Amino acid sequence: MPDDQTAIPDHSGRHSQQDCCIVGGGPAGMVLALLLVRQGVRVTVLEAHEDFDRKFRGDTIHPSVLEIFDQIGLSDALLQLQHSKIYGPTLRAANTSFNPFDFRRLKTKFPFIMLVPQSKFLDFLSREAGKYEEFDLRFSSKVESLIEENGTICGVRYMGRDGEHEVRAPLLIGADGRFSTVRERARLVPTKTSPAMDILWFELPHLPEDIASDRVLGGFGMGRVLAVFDRFDHWQVGYVFPKGTYQQVRSEGLESLRNSIAVIEPRFTKHVASLTDWHQLSLLSVESSFCPKWYLPGLLLIGDAAHVMSPIGGVGINYAIQDAVAAANLLGEHLKTQNTALKDLASVQQRRQFPTKLIQWFQTAMQKRVLTAALGSTTPTTIPLFVRLLFAIPIVQDLPAKLLAFGFRREHVRNIGHSTKVVTAAASSAGRH
Ligand SMILES: Cc1cc2nc3c(=O)[nH]c(=O)nc-3n(C[C@H](O)[C@H](O)[C@H](O)COP(=O)(O)OP(=O)(O)OC[C@H]3O[C@@H](n4cnc5c(N)ncnc54)[C@H](O)[C@@H]3O)c2cc1C
Repeated sequence: MPDDQTAIPDHSGRHSQQDCCIVGGGPAGMVLALLLVRQGVRVTVLEAHEDFDRKFRGDTIHPSVLEIFDQIGLSDALLQLQHSKIYGPTLRAANTSFNPFDFRRLKTKFPFIMLVPQSKFLDFLSREAGKYEEFDLRFSSKVESLIEENGTICGVRYMGRDGEHEVRAPLLIGADGRFSTVRERARLVPTKTSPAMDILWFELPHLPEDIASDRVLGGFGMGRVLAVFDRFDHWQVGYVFPKGTYQQVRSEGLESLRNSIAVIEPRFTKHVASLTDWHQLSLLSVESSFCPKWYLPGLLLIGDAAHVMSPIGGVGINYAIQDAVAAANLLGEHLKTQNTALKDLASVQQRRQFPTKLIQWFQTAMQKRVLTAALGSTTPTTIPLFVRLLFAIPIVQDLPAKLLAFGFRREHVRNIGHSTKVVTAAASSAGRH
């Protein structure tokens, strides 16, 4: 670790004296920043985009994440954001529907998934972290290279609105998502698996006769799977089809797409008329990966940068945030005293890799047993009777509910830090550079 922690001028003319630089203002980076500044750690977050606004990002806040915000006294404020609640899935096949489980059976203060646009969630985190003078968020700051001295990564160079800048810090966190530049520049290579599906995301309008739904609707049939979320003023739809067949889906035409949606979920027969142009649909090439090593001297990867999760179960945000909590717990004190050792970085991976591998194993098993069969079937598919009977047993119902709600290891915030806000002129300008 570099021992010179005196103020280091950056090229913007401001003086930077960070304990930690986080690349990526997604859920992992922003939650870690919030937890660290509450502990008095000076953090700079570099975010490539000019704001948090993105279309078609994960919008699910799981019960385990709501518990984390409860631990730091922010759950009430978070739940003030306009949101909808999901109490479980409803599966629909061949005109029958089935509710396999309900989160309300779980012992938790928050027995639901909170659905909130990710941009609103990130804005909330930025507002909360911005109440601490230790927080420095820089939008339009795209990291391009790492600064390495004597075998230790000690900063980054990034392209800002007015040219190239650099930030130096004793610890760099790569929280820059699935296409992580930090990971790539550090030559940490993930092992990739390619789940046998791709997804088209799009919106369908709410019609006056629609009945609000507090369940995620999962429909399957004719070799396609639908996942539908009620988003107040529209329905958000994921249309799943076998990997590598996007060109075929397109060549079959929009009429065929509209028909297959209406066959799986007849309630959307009228809604699909709104799909008139392929530009309304956004293709997500599904992948899943795991980085064998998440750290190097001066660097730690968390969230999607360390492991991209398959969309099954929608656990990517939850796992990214659990990494952030583990990192804040295990590194906060070391960062304040600037004595973070390699073994401290390794301890974060040790804590999080087992639950991550386990959920990825579970997702692969679900893909092979359930999804591949559903995508391979071109005839109407029914939900087998034994599955319905199995899920009538309460203990069987609760297992997938617990897994989705909490993951395999629930992190608890060990150092909740200062809840007293230290608002200063510097803090109030944080995030507006
Ligand atoms: C279409 C879609 C739907 C999804 N739906 C769900 C869902 O319903 N539930 C769920 O749990 N998960 C979902 N996911 C996955 C989920 O969004 C991710 O797992 C989660 O956002 C990971 O958080 P993260 O902070 O690690 O990375 P990200 O959210 O990817 O954040 C990384 C950030 O780093 C920034 N960045 C990237 N490169 C640089 C750079 N060079 N310099 C500076 N900044 C950089 C990016 O702009 C971004 O803001 C979905 C993903 C997609 C693509």
